[in-house]
Amino acid sequence: MELVINNLNKTYSNGVHAIRDVSLTIPQGMFGLLGPNGAGKSSLMRTIATLQEADTGTITLGEINVLKQKDDVRRILGYLPQEFGVYPKVSAQAMLDHVARLKGVGNSSERKALVSALLERVNLYPVRKKNLGTFSGGMKQRFGIAQALIGNPKLIIVDEPTAGLDPLERNRFHNLLSEIGENTIVILSTHIVEDVTNLCKDMAIICEGSVITQGHPAELVKAAEGKIWEKSIDKTNLESYQQNYQVISTRLIEGQTNIHIYSEIDPDNGFAPVKPDLEDVYFTQIFHNTSPVSA
Ligand code: ADP
Repeated sequence: MELVINNLNKTYSNGVHAIRDVSLTIPQGMFGLLGPNGAGKSSLMRTIATLQEADTGTITLGEINVLKQKDDVRRILGYLPQEFGVYPKVSAQAMLDHVARLKGVGNSSERKALVSALLERVNLYPVRKKNLGTFSGGMKQRFGIAQALIGNPKLIIVDEPTAGLDPLERNRFHNLLSEIGENTIVILSTHIVEDVTNLCKDMAIICEGSVITQGHPAELVKAAEGKIWEKSIDKTNLESYQQNYQVISTRLIEGQTNIHIYSEIDPDNGFAPVKPDLEDVYFTQIFHNTSPVSA
């Protein structure tokens, strides 16, 4: 099964054109949708999750017309929204049981077995009787995945799942997602490049509502080879470098300002070639596709 989006557009009533002619084909496995804050990721995720309407365009999931057959989509969808609220005074086990009942698992022994299996799967079984209000950010996110997995979804959408997680929690969450991604379409929307590097076999970059690049992360990185250069400079000269070169990123390393620039030819002037990574690809794309802010 594939998710196919064609020429999708959405303008909010305040005039913001949040989705601009987006076309994407999303196969089974982990798909990373990467973009800065305000790029339109949540708008796109909510539209795929049937929570809001598009103005024009189509979305199909296998044979299902997503924008029209909403109930059919909801039956096979697991959605973990950006803001995932939990009832603080309810235990993980009781809450999952409740959600399973809402999703139509009527038989109580079947439900009990399902809830236990899900808690095991997301590694929350030992704390199943604890109230959700006592959970850490990472535990809440894993609980969110458990509820999203009820009903064996064919499509799972996770919106900014690792923001606010510590490295250990993020690692656990990544492992869980990649296990799920083996036989499901999992769309991971994020502004964190590392999430996509570690997890996704396909990806797209979205900026100001438009898809500006899509492909396999490794191939996108390969295409940037020979075009990224670095130099350590004095911080006071940064502005002049920004005027003369396409400075895609600036990092402070041991008190020195290290800049990466994009150049298809050798810029000389002390720049050294650097082996690009996905962050360089991302910053280059954002650099070339962001409208300059007028002063
Ligand atoms: P992202 O998830 O990439 O941060 P969003 O989809 O949340 O991006 O937002 C894209 C743009 O649409 C932003 O300019 C945001 O302010 C605007 N936006 C999002 N939701 C609404 C809404 N319900 N009404 C009006 N504007 C919105």
